[in-house]
Amino acid sequence: MPNNICNFFLFPLANPNKMQRYLKKAEKKLSRSCQNIKNEVVKKRGFNFVSQHLGLWTQRAHFGALEKKAQRDVRISAECNLCGKCVRICPMKNLKITDRRIVQLDQCTLCYRCVNQCPQKAITVLVHTQVKKQYQGIVGLLK
Ligand code: SF4
Ligand code: SF4
Repeated sequence: MPNNICNFFLFPLANPNKMQRYLKKAEKKLSRSCQNIKNEVVKKRGFNFVSQHLGLWTQRAHFGALEKKAQRDVRISAECNLCGKCVRICPMKNLKITDRRIVQLDQCTLCYRCVNQCPQKAITVLVHTQVKKQYQGIVGLLK
């Protein structure tokens, strides 16, 4: 998911070379995991004390509040030309065009689809810095 969030400095979109390296590593991991499954070897990661507490205090403790805030924190800038793309692609049907403007229905799940696909880079959710690059899937990153 962090690759999806295109306008937050902690999650910069990876460049094509980096993506190739990540994909190679992921393939190796996958093949190791498959081998382990085949050999009935059980490997667990992230279940030690430190990992569990890191997950609890850096992620789980805050994520609920963030999600709640995000539900109603969609902003549309003056660049919006009312093309309606965000309305069509929102999986939550959270956006609609009313009185020549986009309105939100407080159902956002922070998927970032609208942010990444708005042709005007006019829509932001929760993080309201200028959108520079947009995530276009793995294929887009490899271009
Ligand atoms: S996709 Fe962008 S430009 Fe089109 S209606 Fe939505 S916010 Fe406006
Ligand atoms: S981030 Fe996803 S759920 Fe939220 S308004 Fe945009 S498309 Fe809809």
